[in-house]
Amino acid sequence: MSAPDTAPAVRGIHHVTAIAGDPQTNYDFYTRVMGLRMVKKSVNQDAPDTYHLFYADGAGTPGTDLTFFPWPEMHAARRGVGQVVEVPFAIPSGSLGYWQERLIDFNVTTGNVETRFGETTLPVTDPHGFKLALVETDDARAFTPWAESPVPAEHQVRGMHTVRIWERALSPTERILTQVMGFEKISEEDGWHRYGVEGGTSGTLVDIQVRPETRQGRWGPGAVHHVAWRVRDDAEEMAVREAVEQAGLQPSRQIDRFWFRSVYFKEPGGTLFELATEGPGFDRDEDPDRLGEKLILPPWLESRRASIEAALPPLEPTPAAEE
Ligand code: ZN
Repeated sequence: MSAPDTAPAVRGIHHVTAIAGDPQTNYDFYTRVMGLRMVKKSVNQDAPDTYHLFYADGAGTPGTDLTFFPWPEMHAARRGVGQVVEVPFAIPSGSLGYWQERLIDFNVTTGNVETRFGETTLPVTDPHGFKLALVETDDARAFTPWAESPVPAEHQVRGMHTVRIWERALSPTERILTQVMGFEKISEEDGWHRYGVEGGTSGTLVDIQVRPETRQGRWGPGAVHHVAWRVRDDAEEMAVREAVEQAGLQPSRQIDRFWFRSVYFKEPGGTLFELATEGPGFDRDEDPDRLGEKLILPPWLESRRASIEAALPPLEPTPAAEE
């Protein structure tokens, strides 16, 4: 328990939400190639004629969860400042060779292996242009393997490691990270400033690169929509929310997302941040053994199920990949 006079702080990454193109292509890539489990098949609660697809570890542990709004008809994304431009994931040390072979087998676009802050990193681009990376690290984190994954448990993706953000200026965002959200500057390398926060069991890092000449980013397939930071419970969420407001930003009211509760705000550079509580969790409305198998709606959309289902394109489970 933290002392009551401790400044509020987030506990790491809760989830990242990005925009995809065709939902079937998105589903096939993340389950069949990346070996993640679809832990929830739902709809965008603010636009229920589109899916909201959630991929995570075997249990939907906060910090492992990458979610997508498939909006194939949306104009193309523009990579720019005020945006998360890459989401690096943790893989166990010694797994990169396995992943390189696997990604070649599936014709996935990868970059050259790099060393970043001492860690071996492989940049990867998904079928809709979303940039991720695989980073060999054995940092401590909560993770439950997915027994039915086509990727063996010893190589499975462990969750998010960091998020990489481009900004036009450093200090306004740095001030929010360090004075409001509990991050500390850790180091700097090749123009990337790294910050970390303590006390979590998921990815605890954020990297920022300053690009004064780059245009503002624009949402579209392949772009990150927002990054959500973990808070333990409502009390912690409201304490961080108050600090955000006192810093002159405009946090939303608390919104019940049913599996967690959320507050949204834009950091000064324009990146959309969310605060998300650790619970109640994805097994609130589904058997943990059957997560993601059927379309789940929050209770307040259940009465509209027939019309919502009719508007969604079918999503066929991928046949088990041959290994
Ligand atoms: Zn979110």
